[in-house]
Amino acid sequence: MPGGIAVPSPNLPSFENIPASIILREMFDRADIGMALTDIGTRRFLRVNAKLCEITGYSERELLNTTAIALTHPEDRTADAESFEAYVRKETDLRVIEKRHIRRNGTIIWVHTTTTIVQLGDVRCSFGITEDVTERKAAAAALEAAERRKNYFIATLAHELRNPLAAIRNSSMLLRQLPQADEKVKRIHDIIDRQSQNLEHLVNDLLDTARITAGKITLDRNYVGVADAIHEAIETVHHQFSANGHQLSLSLPAQEISVYGDKLRLVQIFVNLLTNAIKYTSAGGHIDVSTTADEQETAVTVADTGIGIPPERVPYIFNLFEQAAETPSGMHGGLGIGLAITKRLVELHGGSIHVRSLPGLGSTFTVRLPRADRRVQRGQREVVVCRSQARILVVEDNADVAETMALVLRERGHEIRVASDAASAVSIAEAWPPEVFLVDLGLPDIHGHELVRQLRRSDATADAYMIAVSGYGQPSDIRASLAAGFDKHLVKPVDFDALNAILDADRRRG
Ligand code: ADP
Repeated sequence: MPGGIAVPSPNLPSFENIPASIILREMFDRADIGMALTDIGTRRFLRVNAKLCEITGYSERELLNTTAIALTHPEDRTADAESFEAYVRKETDLRVIEKRHIRRNGTIIWVHTTTTIVQLGDVRCSFGITEDVTERKAAAAALEAAERRKNYFIATLAHELRNPLAAIRNSSMLLRQLPQADEKVKRIHDIIDRQSQNLEHLVNDLLDTARITAGKITLDRNYVGVADAIHEAIETVHHQFSANGHQLSLSLPAQEISVYGDKLRLVQIFVNLLTNAIKYTSAGGHIDVSTTADEQETAVTVADTGIGIPPERVPYIFNLFEQAAETPSGMHGGLGIGLAITKRLVELHGGSIHVRSLPGLGSTFTVRLPRADRRVQRGQREVVVCRSQARILVVEDNADVAETMALVLRERGHEIRVASDAASAVSIAEAWPPEVFLVDLGLPDIHGHELVRQLRRSDATADAYMIAVSGYGQPSDIRASLAAGFDKHLVKPVDFDALNAILDADRRRG
């Protein structure tokens, strides 16, 4: 019909010929959503539709004899009244509220209601649309509960894995100290060492995942040289470069650039990116790390010549548990959490992370961080002198961890006793007052904090050096240990070099 206007067929009724009131009434009566007109002054229902009767369980006549307030769950009435008043005062044109209703049979349902004010002659009314969202709410709550349980499970699992891991790491350290004539034993020892280190990374990543989802990661900030953090990261993954035959090139600006951040976490960011670059690039590929800076920010780029990422996966790779099916390097694929942790850590530093990638053409990850230039204080290494032996009581209920810890410390010349619970710690300490206590916080009889309080009250042990050992190492955990009376708080598995530095420093003080 060239240039013509569609003329309604004379047999079909035109909408213009149907009075609006009829259309509205039909829609009101038959809509599959609850509708009501209420008097704003009294909040009484003036008209209700069939669906609202179905949602509330009341007949039309019963609803017309009641108010919207009466239907509302008592605990939601105050919030409902407040939002209603604001809306009536015309602070908002539209009122959207989710609240609980009590149905006629006493069951509680969730409704989502949208209301708007209409003037009908002299009466100011509110026209409301109500939807029963009980099922959606229940599904969302179930999802949240499942998410909480999953996070709790991951956190517990990671903590539970720390004890056996501590025992393996301690034993491995002891093996290293034995004279190892046999080449085979050496090789086996190297495997145990490497694999337990891998395990430790996985456990730490799992713990970080739990903290990320709970929003509990905090930074221990200082002025950090970006080049220092990059060098440390490269050192950490160095053996992977050589094992997989990758070429590394590094370009850093001549001037020193620093950020105000957590050194360990910054290193972790670069380690994660470098590990992925190695993992997703075949042997002999190139990995290029470069840093640029303007006045405001510094950009660190990790580029590889690896398999790249298909465009449809790019938006998801920073999500938790998002992972590739296989890796060209044949390295273990991981848990799909490294980039999620990396992104969160970068954001905590006030920065951003982006990726450019095409399948087969490699990937380029760019981390931007705000600059915070101030002369970087080079960490002064403590001069550690080991003068004498210390009497150390190890209080630990896991027999393997206790034994290996005792063995490692004895190797260093200390005199060690072991207690498997707080009660035996107290009785050993009475007869043999130690200079140092190493106390696992999760003891079977009382909490380690309570034990240290008791020990501080006894003359024989009041001045001893007390070290808490725990699977938890958040700033709040450390504060709690210090408040209870500990001098130090160490996280499992204990880093023995750090422990020795503490012991030596302590004895220098004493
Ligand atoms: P994963 O433990 O699986 O490596 P990550 O969170 O570190 O987990 O990475 C998520 C996914 O992003 C990987 O499984 C991989 O598909 C992709 N990816 C990350 N880095 C690279 C890279 N340099 N090259 C190609 N793909 C990568």
